[in-house]
Amino acid sequence: MSNENKSIHEFDFNLICEYFASVERQGPGSREVTLKALSFIDNLNEHSRIADLGCGTGWQTILLGEHVPGEIFGLDLFPDFIDILNRNAGLHHLQNRIKGIVGSMDDLPFEKETLDLIWSEGAIYNIGFQRGLNEWREYLKKGGYVAVSEVSWFTDWRPAEINDFWMDAYPEIDTIPNKAGQMQKAGYVPVANFILPENCWIEHFYAPQVEAQEIFLRRYAGNKVAEDFIANQRYETQLYYKYKEFYGYVFYIGKKI
Ligand code: SAM
Repeated sequence: MSNENKSIHEFDFNLICEYFASVERQGPGSREVTLKALSFIDNLNEHSRIADLGCGTGWQTILLGEHVPGEIFGLDLFPDFIDILNRNAGLHHLQNRIKGIVGSMDDLPFEKETLDLIWSEGAIYNIGFQRGLNEWREYLKKGGYVAVSEVSWFTDWRPAEINDFWMDAYPEIDTIPNKAGQMQKAGYVPVANFILPENCWIEHFYAPQVEAQEIFLRRYAGNKVAEDFIANQRYETQLYYKYKEFYGYVFYIGKKI
């Protein structure tokens, strides 16, 4: 299909995905944080079935594969991300245990009560924290775990500029106690939660984007959509540096009862 036949929305989506396919991570996180969250999960063996929802190009999916037994399904809406995950699974000799699937987190391709662990880093917001926890619970076995990272407020009060930005971008943003309460209400024991350190944003998410943005802008020189998209990314980054004591990502780990 030529670009002329694509709607602006479709072109935007492809452009955004192309940009994020060029960096290792599509959201804040780190090796240390993934392994810390994993340290709270105690039910896995070689027969376990694990789903990483909104896995992106699957940096953390591969890390999971290296540290847990069982079968891991990485699921993402965007086929190019899943191609990268499947290629990397082969390079890490994990192709027998990691399977990338193109699909949507609101219509999971699994039987109910068959998963031991649902993982999702920086992606549950696509369906919404409460809806995701409620719907995904049905796919977990009794005693299974959910581990998700989610943007959260660190304080009850925050400056209007950052409050308005997030209320517009993701109105479900909330404080840590409220998010933990929502997890409990959805039928999980809130086993643990912890704040992702700043290096998850600065070193592992924003720093690699600096060069990616230059390359992208050169490739799409004069393309207003691409220029606006990068300007938006840069604005978000500035907001993070300005207001990082007020918000960030938090890992929430819960056990289905
Ligand atoms: N987990 C990865 C990470 O931490 O690097 C990716 C996080 S990225 C911020 C969010 C991901 O959710 C993207 O890869 C996007 O394609 C995916 N996504 C968006 N809507 C989705 C949906 N309905 N079902 C599955 N994946 C979705």
